[in-house]
Amino acid sequence: MPLQLLTIAFLLTLGLMVAVRWWLASRQLAAVRAHRGVVPAEFAASVPRTDHERAADYSAARLELGRLELLFEAVLLLLVTVGGGIAVLDAWVAQFKLGDPWHGVVTLVLLALLMSAAGLPFAIYSTFRIEARFGFNRTTPGLFVVDLLRSLGVAVVLGVPLLAVLLWLMAATGDAWWLYAWGVWVVFGLLVSFAWPRFIAPLFNRFHPLEPGALRAAVERIMTRCGFATDGVFVMDGSRRSSHGNAYFTGVGRHKRIVLFDTLLERLEPPEVEAVLAHELGHFRLHHIRQRLVLSFGAALLGFALLGVAARAPGFYAALGVPVRSTHAALALFALVVPVFLFPLSPLASWWSRRHEYQADRFAVAHSDGAALASALVKLYRDNATTLTPDPLYSAWHDSHPPALARIAALGKGA
Ligand SMILES: [Zn+2]
Repeated sequence: MPLQLLTIAFLLTLGLMVAVRWWLASRQLAAVRAHRGVVPAEFAASVPRTDHERAADYSAARLELGRLELLFEAVLLLLVTVGGGIAVLDAWVAQFKLGDPWHGVVTLVLLALLMSAAGLPFAIYSTFRIEARFGFNRTTPGLFVVDLLRSLGVAVVLGVPLLAVLLWLMAATGDAWWLYAWGVWVVFGLLVSFAWPRFIAPLFNRFHPLEPGALRAAVERIMTRCGFATDGVFVMDGSRRSSHGNAYFTGVGRHKRIVLFDTLLERLEPPEVEAVLAHELGHFRLHHIRQRLVLSFGAALLGFALLGVAARAPGFYAALGVPVRSTHAALALFALVVPVFLFPLSPLASWWSRRHEYQADRFAVAHSDGAALASALVKLYRDNATTLTPDPLYSAWHDSHPPALARIAALGKGA
């Protein structure tokens, strides 16, 4: 591809992405503020006005920070690519004469570190200003630092060997390297999803099996009814960091676990927990989790094939600000630039995810109590300060879950 064409396409798409996201966030801000004073009629009995106003203020604070972060990330991306940041870093690492693949590994690790460090002020402001102001934050500065170091440790332990293998394959296995690289990627992904609940998640939280009692009986009932075998149901001390409540599934094959946040159990009655679990089991029984995994491996295959072509085109490097061609520069540019070109697909991904949410809700209604699911959702909207009045376009573009009104209405109709 002629050099300038790729540069221009990249700059135009990035500009368009920032403009669209800024515009959508502004629409969302306006919608949240316009409805701040009045609780929607459907929620008037269950959500007090003060909670509704708090949700509006919380959403607005996060949207405003999100808009700033959007601009900041676009500028950072320009600086490291066409601005020459990767080239400068690459030349600096070259003086240490590390040889392959370590020169590439060190350059990529430093690039990732510098970019994460640049974004740190946003994480700090979000945790200690916004989350704290609305009473959600329970992370102390000490825990924040320890978390940061632990995440860094995990990223190095997992990332360095992966990068070393990928860079070695790119250099040593000829034109079909991308196919081997994809194989490594898939195996690595499966290994991590196996190791995550056992070895990595326990570095950050404590997990203990759900204690015997009414709740455990309800959980076992719903799992039997849905024909679900698992490694166990665990309660996680989410309250160490935040008062937001949640539940999730983890692991693969026979080693699946259900994790309930302690903050969720504090608020929901056993029938509500049962209904929330039925929804999560629905995702599994309807093969949503498998579909997502297959899609992500398929997308990775396409990505590696494309990278195989891009890495051989000399114009690719120069057009994106890297004069010296190398395997690690190809990897870095690809990882940074491709998401920009994929941004028009995000409404499609959101739509697919919302479809799965409706399907899991229908599954929950069929296997548990729809009214209990509705009351659990309303409690979660209220306590997590989720806006009940999103802008339709913003929601269609970004939201992985259906808007509150539509979701509860669907449950009322038997989902
Ligand atoms: Zn769901």
